[in-house]
Amino acid sequence: MSDSKPVAIVGAGPVGAVMALALSRKGIPVVLIEAEYAPIQDQRAATVHPPTVEMFAELGLLDDAFSEAPSGGLQSPIFHYRNRVDNELVAVFDVDVLKGEVAYPFVLQWEQYKLVEAVVPKLEADPLAEVRFGWRLTGMEQSEDDVTLTLTNPAGEPETLVASYVIGTDGFRSTVRELAGIEFEGFTWAERFIKIGTTFDYLDTDRGYCTRNYFSDPDEWLNLFKVKGEGGNGIWRGIFPVPADERDEDAMSLEGVQRRLQNLYPKDGDYDIAYHALYKVHQRVAKTYNLGRVFLAGDAAHVNNPIGGMGMNGGIHDAMNLAEKLADVWFARADASVFDRYSRQRRKAQIDFVQAQSIQNKKSLEEKDPALRRKSLDNLRRMSENTDLHKQFIYRSSLFESLKSANAVE
Ligand SMILES: Cc1cc2nc3c(=O)[nH]c(=O)nc-3n(C[C@H](O)[C@H](O)[C@H](O)COP(=O)(O)OP(=O)(O)OC[C@H]3O[C@@H](n4cnc5c(N)ncnc54)[C@H](O)[C@@H]3O)c2cc1C
Repeated sequence: MSDSKPVAIVGAGPVGAVMALALSRKGIPVVLIEAEYAPIQDQRAATVHPPTVEMFAELGLLDDAFSEAPSGGLQSPIFHYRNRVDNELVAVFDVDVLKGEVAYPFVLQWEQYKLVEAVVPKLEADPLAEVRFGWRLTGMEQSEDDVTLTLTNPAGEPETLVASYVIGTDGFRSTVRELAGIEFEGFTWAERFIKIGTTFDYLDTDRGYCTRNYFSDPDEWLNLFKVKGEGGNGIWRGIFPVPADERDEDAMSLEGVQRRLQNLYPKDGDYDIAYHALYKVHQRVAKTYNLGRVFLAGDAAHVNNPIGGMGMNGGIHDAMNLAEKLADVWFARADASVFDRYSRQRRKAQIDFVQAQSIQNKKSLEEKDPALRRKSLDNLRRMSENTDLHKQFIYRSSLFESLKSANAVE
């Protein structure tokens, strides 16, 4: 072992949790630092693409991920593209076309907080890992040999921690990124997105929806997915755009939420609302993912709109890539130049695939020009009806292609 000071991972969201587990499984001591007092019920990500499921397998998480209990995920191989204007079913894609070519030919709908809740007890049982909830990073100084972190402990007092390396998995507003002075280049969309969860079961309607649906609509596009929720009976999550001129309080009001669901599928009585939240949406990538002994991964390194479900997946791919390289340096199998390769590889995956694809997904769902709209829908149908194109589409949208092309970068 090259260094006995632990690796500090700041932020116990899904990426930090996976990062800590991946490193401790490789024999590297870690301290996972989280400002919140316990894992929070973050209802953002749920879509887990097949290559990420392969990574869960590598980390021994499949018993949790595939559990029949409410804490497990929902296997969802099929997804629909629909024209919301007339409910035309435009294209049906089935990840199962990759059966025999990939290990897990389905998308797993598994809420991100359930992933964190599955990982934390494994870390707490591991002598190489320490998990600190209620601790916040406030300062950071690196030397050639280590990084000294200033933390605020749960009692509100300052304490220091000396780490061999620091990994910022502390989300969009990353303190690590800010303290390291790394630019976060990109833009913020004018509209916001609202996520509304309801216990109403859309499979009981006459619409023919499946458990993952993308709706194109020049007035109000929509993503509608099913997750297991807390009790296991299922929650349907709709993600809708909120125009720039709609006030936050109107979008978040009970009337606003009911109106959006009633416009989608009119029914007698109010919808039962499990949760709703409004999000600002960004497309940004950090200028570098490494600076000396400091690294960024997950939302601290990149953010994108959630259409296609790629943000958390890309972050977990960062974590697995970085864990491999850090272990190689830790056990003297490689020198520190591999860290630049981490940044090159994962920035390529992000810029060429996740950013490009998520922007394209948004544009195609919201297209207002009728001719361009028709062309985009016809193109989706054509891809879904041809086996080779169908497979190509799934390899790209599931991020297999992004991993392959990024890993080829020297
Ligand atoms: C509506 C919506 C739906 C989405 N759906 C999907 C999806 O289906 N699939 C997908 O792949 N992605 C999806 N995403 C994106 C996904 O939610 C994020 O990419 C993911 O949460 C990033 O995880 P993370 O661990 O990098 O950061 P976060 O989940 O933001 O976690 C960061 C953690 O760091 C902690 N922290 C922050 N600052 C400090 C500090 N100074 N000290 C200590 N701790 C700190 C925070 O408390 C937090 O727990 C969606 C996003 C939105 C908005």
